[in-house]
Amino acid sequence: MKILVINSGSSSIKYQLINMKSESVLAKGLVERIGIEGSRLEQEVNGEEIEIEQEIADHGVGMELVIDTLTNKETGVISSVDEINAVGHRVVQGGKYFDKSVIIDQDVKEKIEECATLAPLHNPPNLMGIEVCEELMPHAKQIATFDSAFHQTMPEEIYMYALPYELYEKHDIRRYGAHGTSHKFVAKKVAKEMSQPIEDLKIITCHLGNGASVTAVKNGKSYDTSMGLTPLEGLVMGTRCGDLDPAAVPFIMEKEDLNPQEMDDLMNNESGLKGISGISSDMRDIGEAAAEGNERAQLALDMFVGRVKKYIGSYTAEMNGVDAIVFTAGIGENAIELREQICSNLDYLGIELDSVKNDVRGATTEISADESNVKVYVIPTNEELVIARDAKKLID
Ligand code: ADP
Repeated sequence: MKILVINSGSSSIKYQLINMKSESVLAKGLVERIGIEGSRLEQEVNGEEIEIEQEIADHGVGMELVIDTLTNKETGVISSVDEINAVGHRVVQGGKYFDKSVIIDQDVKEKIEECATLAPLHNPPNLMGIEVCEELMPHAKQIATFDSAFHQTMPEEIYMYALPYELYEKHDIRRYGAHGTSHKFVAKKVAKEMSQPIEDLKIITCHLGNGASVTAVKNGKSYDTSMGLTPLEGLVMGTRCGDLDPAAVPFIMEKEDLNPQEMDDLMNNESGLKGISGISSDMRDIGEAAAEGNERAQLALDMFVGRVKKYIGSYTAEMNGVDAIVFTAGIGENAIELREQICSNLDYLGIELDSVKNDVRGATTEISADESNVKVYVIPTNEELVIARDAKKLID
């Protein structure tokens, strides 16, 4: 069985074709700059990359190019599109409707559209990807996996905001969280690594990428997570500010004469590492600049580290303890020093790193010191595999 996993963004389509027998990636690629100048596709098969530059006016053309490339006699990996048994779509916001992956039908599409008010940048292009694939691959089942689904187990007192209750009743204003697929994957993996049932563990998973969130996983379920109604809440991220005094919002809007859209843009795209450092949203750039003595880059780094630490502390308190902490995603898997800084001075919680074991990038490794009461792990995330597995389960 072969499953195509799609992550359709506003101007890009990321994809992986996975052979479910061996769970191996047959091809992975990216179509980018859809609808803008310089559009292109790149695809990797067995470490070999190809690039195609051509005009890609919309997602339909982009997806056709993906299928052509996958089935190309020379560079392709399948002989016909009929070999694709199912398509698994990443959907960011499933709101209150979805606590697991589902086979897509008209009703599911309508609900994804309804949830677009909560994720206006993500759900509409996700839906566009679904509709394009339905048209181009009518023989294949379409499956949706939601970033918010894993967090549907959060208790009411955690997912509610202390706003007038009517806002929840009228507009579903509450915390939903994101990155659920990744948090679930690494939490399950760490339980396996520790040879313990996940139901017996208290785990804190730190998904630190461009977007970043921390989740408290108690007895195998998401108990709390740092992202909220939207992915803006919580950690300091590449371009997002994370937690903020809500009163700062109208204050800044008034002082800077900004409308709601402009304020939203400021908090989502001009803040975080980029806003503080004034240099870049990319952690590698920040690390280099800080090492060269750039004070604002150092400040951005310290703020990032401090916020993660704060969440680890509060989730440890919320769960009355922690058995394992997991680092994943671009920063979590690769930034050795940063992991060391996050875990420093946490020995009162029983958390101690082994700096030799911590000298690792992108490989599943236990990095805690032997005397540490809490196990600390690096675990590479694999959201595509979760989506493909869910799709397989549903069509089986
Ligand atoms: P997303 O999927 O959210 O776009 P990723 O999970 O790919 O993001 O993470 C991107 C982040 O990971 C960037 O900030 C990048 O600088 C950081 N990163 C990647 N490799 C390293 C490294 N070796 N050291 C520090 N940060 C790294």
